[in-house]
Amino acid sequence: MRKTPLLESHLRHLKLPSFLENYRRVADEQRDPVMYLDTLLHLEMDRRSANGVRQRIANAHFPSIKTFDGFDFRQQPKLPKVKVLSLLDSMFVREKRNIVFYGPPGVGKTHCLLAIGHAACMNGYRTLFTTAAELLTMLIEAKENGSLTKRLRALERYHLLLIDELGYVPFERQATDLLFQLISRRYEASSVVITTNLAFEQWGQIFPDPMAARAIIDRLIHHGAIFEFSGESYRLRQRSGAKKDNGELARS
Ligand code: ADP
Ligand code: MG
Repeated sequence: MRKTPLLESHLRHLKLPSFLENYRRVADEQRDPVMYLDTLLHLEMDRRSANGVRQRIANAHFPSIKTFDGFDFRQQPKLPKVKVLSLLDSMFVREKRNIVFYGPPGVGKTHCLLAIGHAACMNGYRTLFTTAAELLTMLIEAKENGSLTKRLRALERYHLLLIDELGYVPFERQATDLLFQLISRRYEASSVVITTNLAFEQWGQIFPDPMAARAIIDRLIHHGAIFEFSGESYRLRQRSGAKKDNGELARS
């Protein structure tokens, strides 16, 4: 095969690594010039899409990777399995809708949050995972050093914001205002998914007044779906199961 002296340096310059790796091999297999170009372009596009997914997953800061393959829906008989699994198509992100996962500790809320976040990354959506406490600390710091607008704008770049564990830490007035600003900016513009251990009637307990709680809830659930989890903590159940197994082992 003929090689022009600058071909490889042009391919490097144009950042076409798959062309560079494959242009000789594909030339042996594909004689039709249009098909040749088509094959190389496909290889380049596949690589870019895989890199994009990897990058989005890295940028999302997931504490761990979870999928629904590892989720036992039999433990959550009241959870609408088909509806939950349909969240994997990320249509709710495209439609800028929100989701709330509500229930006691240890029942798989964070697991589901991570699974739909992972799927969103695969589907091309910029995603960020954070806990409510981390998010508020970050916003308060930004307000104090005059970079709040910049911070809020940076958060707007994400198609999907995952906020874990709302309800464990009470919100002071300033934090409530910041959360309200954030939720208002995202309202009908991009999606939020939150997990919480509190029923909406109890949100008054963590916000300084019921009006503030109501204003945040209204914006969250206007175009939103709520999924209620129930039952015993999976963690505790596994631990007591392990203890029982050990006990049985010790006796045998
Ligand atoms: P929550 O956020 O509701 O407190 P997590 O999602 O953190 O609970 O779940 C606690 C642990 O138990 C995690 O490791 C999670 O993967 C696991 N887990 C919870 N529910 C299930 C389930 N139904 N099937 C498989 N693993 C589960
Ligand atoms: Mg959790």
